[in-house]
Amino acid sequence: MPITNRIAEFLPDAKSWRQHLHAHPELRFAEHQTAAFVAERLREFGCDTVRTGVGQTGVVAVIEGRAAGRTIAFRADMDALALTERTGLAHASIIPGRMHACGHDGHTTMLLTAARYLAETRAFAGRVVLLFQPAEEGGGGAKAMLGDGALEGVDEVYALHNWPGLAPGHFAVRPGPMMAAADGFAITVQGKGGHGARPHLAVDTTLAAAAIVVAMPSIPGRNTDPHQPVVVSVCAMQSDSTAYNVIPDQVILRGTTRFFDTALRPVLRDRITTLAQATAAAYGATATVDYFRGVDPVINDVAAAAHAAQAASRVAGDVRRDMAPDMAAEDFADILAARPGAYVWIGNGASADLHNPAYEFNDDIIPAGASFFAALAEMRLNP
Ligand SMILES: [Zn+2]
Ligand SMILES: [Zn+2]
Repeated sequence: MPITNRIAEFLPDAKSWRQHLHAHPELRFAEHQTAAFVAERLREFGCDTVRTGVGQTGVVAVIEGRAAGRTIAFRADMDALALTERTGLAHASIIPGRMHACGHDGHTTMLLTAARYLAETRAFAGRVVLLFQPAEEGGGGAKAMLGDGALEGVDEVYALHNWPGLAPGHFAVRPGPMMAAADGFAITVQGKGGHGARPHLAVDTTLAAAAIVVAMPSIPGRNTDPHQPVVVSVCAMQSDSTAYNVIPDQVILRGTTRFFDTALRPVLRDRITTLAQATAAAYGATATVDYFRGVDPVINDVAAAAHAAQAASRVAGDVRRDMAPDMAAEDFADILAARPGAYVWIGNGASADLHNPAYEFNDDIIPAGASFFAALAEMRLNP
């Protein structure tokens, strides 16, 4: 089964939905119009139940098969990002400072397209649950949906994310680690503000903060096993002064850690704290560190990854199983901690990268993504 013919016929409609969603991006937990659009389509398709307001702005729909059986769930995320689009496309975001730069408009559309097919054909025994999730981008939308019982009765669960650089409509999946855990930290460096011309009368917070920035990347591979992938990045440096001749009283650094082994979480927290405090002290300043727990790694169930690969190969032939896990994070981790399942990449072709203002979801991969969900449902629910 390559692209399902019936699904290919839905492409013009699907493109128009995707481009409509793209032009009207909504941020985490504010996906009101998006959720209403999704629920309206799902009701049109004849889904058996459509529940809105799940995990604040999420939508859950159920499609019953022709007989009783197991339950499989598919998840798509719906939220956009806070950046300004620079694609110049006719369907570009109409809202400055908001953009679907991670392709969640495409994920929503691929799952809607699969829902339309599955509601029409129902060639399976059991139940398909469709999860349209809010707030994937750092909002904890998956947890919010779990808290509202979105996975009740679900036996296994899958999600797709588009992947720039992977051939369009091709798939990649691996058993075990797929995406990293992500935590955050803030380091407040306190010194003594003063005139930039007389630094010897101040305690130079900028210099101490810069030394901390330089010290942080020494943690991976020195305090952790070099065989373990770990990232420590300082991404923001902020003071209360924008003047060119003022040494600020306080500088705040913000950053992120990435890792797969959750036993490293306290190690990273402790090393960041010690290194920041000792480095600040070396410059006569002090540092206080807040370390925030983010999401755990996305770990694919071994059997579910094999099922996903089988469905993907029915749609697109060869499936990439050799790609390294990625150090980006994804809150589908919370869903995989609750149920066995797998997270799968679908190639977006040679597009700009995710979260880039020039990024564009490739509409031509919609039939492949929708066919993947349909194939997986029909395969797993027809023993
Ligand atoms: Zn993203
Ligand atoms: Zn994303």
